Amino acid sequence: NKPIHIIGGGLAGSEAAWQIAEQGVPVTLHEMRPVRATEAHQTDGLAELVCSNSFRSDDDSSNAVGQIHWEMRRLGSLIMACGDAHQLPAGGALAVDREGFSAAVTAKLEAHPLVSIEREEVAGLPPEEWDSVIVATGPLTSPGLAEAIRAATGEDSLAFFDAIAPIVHHDSIDMSVAWMQSRYDKAGPGGTGADYINCPMDRDQYEAFIDALLAGEKTEFKEWEASTPYFDGCLPIEVMASRGRETLRHGPMKPIGLTNAHQPDVKPYAVVQLRQDNALGTLWNMVGFQTKLKYGVQGQVLRMIPGLQNAEFARLGGLHRNTYLNSPRLLDGTLRLKALPRLRFAGQITGCEGYIESASVGLMVGRFAAAERLGRQPSLPPLTTAFGALLGHITGGHLSVEGEGPRSFQPMNINFGLFPPLEQLPTKGPNGERLRGTAKSLAKKQAMTARAKADLDRWIGD
Ligand code: FAD
Repeated sequence: NKPIHIIGGGLAGSEAAWQIAEQGVPVTLHEMRPVRATEAHQTDGLAELVCSNSFRSDDDSSNAVGQIHWEMRRLGSLIMACGDAHQLPAGGALAVDREGFSAAVTAKLEAHPLVSIEREEVAGLPPEEWDSVIVATGPLTSPGLAEAIRAATGEDSLAFFDAIAPIVHHDSIDMSVAWMQSRYDKAGPGGTGADYINCPMDRDQYEAFIDALLAGEKTEFKEWEASTPYFDGCLPIEVMASRGRETLRHGPMKPIGLTNAHQPDVKPYAVVQLRQDNALGTLWNMVGFQTKLKYGVQGQVLRMIPGLQNAEFARLGGLHRNTYLNSPRLLDGTLRLKALPRLRFAGQITGCEGYIESASVGLMVGRFAAAERLGRQPSLPPLTTAFGALLGHITGGHLSVEGEGPRSFQPMNINFGLFPPLEQLPTKGPNGERLRGTAKSLAKKQAMTARAKADLDRWIGD
């Protein structure tokens, strides 16, 4: 009865170990701390929270994060059980006592008869006799293992930084100001010549925007981030602006080859472009707009762009040290490495983002690996569930744009833009009243979480 090996006892690895052991399959968890430290972890506890102590919203009726909490609890998640047991008051969010939480996860796994824990670094590809392995080494995967993965998968397979451009919900873009057009109407493979959303700026708007970028408060690189040699070629917009007021107008905001469909006679002084980010067309990324502006000020500055004055962001921009795979290209449907199927990946290294998302991927991958070991066919959660939506993001089911395949693969939190749209949008409230504005948007979210719950239960039943 050979064990499944898990490398990394963080959020994903701990959850995966629990799920496997609970299916009656032995598991060996290899965690390098305290033998070797990462730049961010402070303790030797399993599932250490490296920064905030929040699992974010616990509202499972109108929030995608709350919905994924619900799905995890429904599948007996260790991370959620320990989080609930060590909850601190935080309004609608689930915040936890980080020490109590990590100690509880560690104790539960240490006490499980089918789990053994080895404190050691796996510094290269795991030995051949480990026939089923889950790599859950996170955003700060140790260099030895990262290099081995890179060597096994190819040059551009593993990123060491995520330069994240903000992503906007399509239905919050004002198309009476913005218009669809590709630069010089060029139709790339599968394109129509009108593949981008363009937001025009006149000179005053551009100058005001540059002032706001320069004045906005930025997050600083941590010392160890700044010294990582892989950081090049993806400058934040505010750094470009600081190099010269015209730099952006000659870079990502250049107006050439574009004609404002609403005012063909007025030449825009600068243009911000958005590109479709998922096949559903619900999410659009701001091309070349990676930024280290602080989140609060970032929303304000970006809403100065005409057409984005009411923008809702599926994710804001950032630039972080983060090791992650080009998963849509490298992994199969149950997150096995296509080139070396004895290896599965889980957690943030697969291109999800956040504690809870990482633990969710650990939960799913643990179940896939256990099913395989038990001779069963792993079953995928429906795309309409939060689990399925997140998995779809990672494997590229959603991300590949018709005819082009996956392009801007970036780590992402769970959000409603990853779910397939509802077949029928709610139009009336409980008392038959016509829904508008925020009431309509709330009803849509509630309908999506209700659909997710019903479909998850059906999947579990099957
Ligand atoms: P981790 O939890 O990092 O676990 C990976 C584990 O693998 C670690 O214990 C590490 O020691 C071990 N390991 C690495 N390499 C090896 C090896 N070769 N052999 C053996 N063990 C190894 N998310 C949020 O939701 N909120 C936040 O506030 C937040 N802040 C963050 C701040 C920083 C500085 C960073 C880097 C990330 C932050 N994140 C945050 C993201 C967060 O790290 C992840 O969401 C989550 O911890 C990832 O879970 P994971 O299991 O994939 O990786």
